[in-house]
Order: sequence, then C-alpha cells, then structure tokens
Amino acid sequence: MKDKEDIWLTCACGEKFLFSIRDQDFYESKGYLPPKRCKQCRILRQKEREKFGQIPSSN
Ligand SMILES: [Zn+2]
Repeated sequence: MKDKEDIWLTCACGEKFLFSIRDQDFYESKGYLPPKRCKQCRILRQKEREKFGQIPSSN
C-alpha cells in the first residue's frame, strides 16, 4: 500500500486547505469521508448549527 501524504483539497468556497496525514488517519479511523470544507467554512457552519439549535426564547 502507498504511503500517505498531505493532500490539498479545495473547498466549495474555492479556498484550498490541507488534509494532513494525521487528519486522514483520524477520518479513516472514524469512517468519515474526507472533508469538503475548509476550516473557515466549518467554523461558520458550526455557528449556524448552534444558532439553529437554540430554542427560541419567548419575548
Ligand atoms: Zn471554504
């Protein structure tokens, strides 16, 4: 089997991001698919999710 090496992926926003060997191992061990989003987009998406996850307060 071929040795792993760092891979550069392109996000949907056009940003290139590094998918390091360490990350590849992590994703593989979890059975995840390689990430499609750069760090920035993932943080944004996380924030969105937190927003939607909030229970609307009655006011
Ligand atoms: Zn992005």
